[in-house]
Amino acid sequence: MARSLLSPTTAEQPKTADVIIVGGGPAGTAAAWALERAQPGIQIVLIERAAQPGSGASNASLENFRTAWAAPCLARLMTRSIDLFMHPGEFFGEDTDLGAKQRGYLWCAFTEAQAAKLHAEVEHLHAIGLPHIQYLDTSEVQARFGWLGPKLLAGKYDPRAGWLDSYALIQAFLRACQTTTVLLGVPDVRLVREGDRITGVETVAGRITAPATLIAAGADSRGVAATAGVHLPLVMRPRQSFTTSWRHPEFPADGPAIIGSAPFPHVRPEAQDGAIFGFEYAWNAKGMGENGRAAEALEAPIYPVDRWKDPRMPSVALMLLAKQFGHERGGFASPNYLRGLDHRAGYYVYRDAANAYTTSADGQQRGYDSQRAILDAHPEVHGLFLSVAHVGHGIMSAPAAGEIVASRILGRPLPDSAFADFAWGAHYVEHDSGGLTPDNAGVES
Ligand SMILES: Cc1cc2nc3c(=O)[nH]c(=O)nc-3n(C[C@H](O)[C@H](O)[C@H](O)COP(=O)(O)OP(=O)(O)OC[C@H]3O[C@@H](n4cnc5c(N)ncnc54)[C@H](O)[C@@H]3O)c2cc1C
Repeated sequence: MARSLLSPTTAEQPKTADVIIVGGGPAGTAAAWALERAQPGIQIVLIERAAQPGSGASNASLENFRTAWAAPCLARLMTRSIDLFMHPGEFFGEDTDLGAKQRGYLWCAFTEAQAAKLHAEVEHLHAIGLPHIQYLDTSEVQARFGWLGPKLLAGKYDPRAGWLDSYALIQAFLRACQTTTVLLGVPDVRLVREGDRITGVETVAGRITAPATLIAAGADSRGVAATAGVHLPLVMRPRQSFTTSWRHPEFPADGPAIIGSAPFPHVRPEAQDGAIFGFEYAWNAKGMGENGRAAEALEAPIYPVDRWKDPRMPSVALMLLAKQFGHERGGFASPNYLRGLDHRAGYYVYRDAANAYTTSADGQQRGYDSQRAILDAHPEVHGLFLSVAHVGHGIMSAPAAGEIVASRILGRPLPDSAFADFAWGAHYVEHDSGGLTPDNAGVES
């Protein structure tokens, strides 16, 4: 079990470490776990600003995982992580329960054109080594998921998808650590820079010196790097979710996560009687820019993040699902869904347009919404490492992302050559734009 100190005094705070990790969310705790597995005895100091780990975007997350990713690097990242979610005893000890439920993920088509698109996607996924992804024609999808209504024409189904308890995952990472010290409730960490090298951090309780520092601070990563004059190519977009305490009776507790057609409202069962919904849309961007103008993305997070909660979001997501599935009174049209719901917001963090771009024949560069995290050493500043830009899947990718960044820090070969696509300098990767389907940028829960 990692040793934890809340608001450590100067006397309590370690003075040195082999690795300092800034940020105690899925990315930072996974890195500590993977570093200790790769090099037992390594001395790690993990610094978390809040009084408890997991105090960032994971709090708003749907906590879903899936293997169906069109880019091979992402598919392999998730496949490795899901292997761990489904065998926690092997990695964390016998009694570990991550709350993982492998109940599948169903993408829905309501028109022939949408069905043809899902069919093509399934063929592509088979071609990149995911033969378990199924295309369900009308008779199959109706036989298995007829409770969704007669408008459901076809489906793409990932039987290895599901969801887990992200807080249990973070705790499991920390419980598996032996030589990590977690400093909680530590505000205003500053990187210490000497020339072209980061040599440690400065906290309110003094300096910690280390040859390697990893930034894994989610939406605040850019700000942490800026304390040493280092620029990170990141932008943020607020996203929302809501949990209901009620679920319509036909929607079974062992049902899959369901994603509708564009603009892709999605939902999965939650606990005994509830459901958790997500839906991403451009309205959020309004008012983010200077002087209230629409902005495409934020360069710095604005807090409290709850300011991005659009009170209309829950009813719009439900209305879209009801419309797509043809539910007129019951089902997703039931007003019971809107009673006592818990609405949350958090940031997705992306590579910016200067880092993820396509290049046309005439040399023009055009930014795109890459789904790839940066899991790498900083290309110019020595001793600085990054586990950032986890977009909408930093929980499902956490174990493998931790292993990749541990390899980078320890100077070892990557666990899989496909993971070179998570390098800072990998500006474009085929099939990397959009989350669930090739042209639906932004939907990747
Ligand atoms: C609405 C929504 C739905 C989502 N759905 C899913 C999903 O279904 N599946 C999935 O896998 N992912 C999902 N995600 C994405 C997932 O939550 C993120 O990708 C993941 O949380 C990123 O992990 P992280 O550790 O990089 O950052 P975070 O989770 O944001 O954690 C960062 C941590 O660093 C700490 N920190 C920040 N600044 C400092 C500082 N200066 N010093 C010290 N500590 C600091 C924070 O307090 C926090 O604990 C969703 C996100 C949202 C918003």
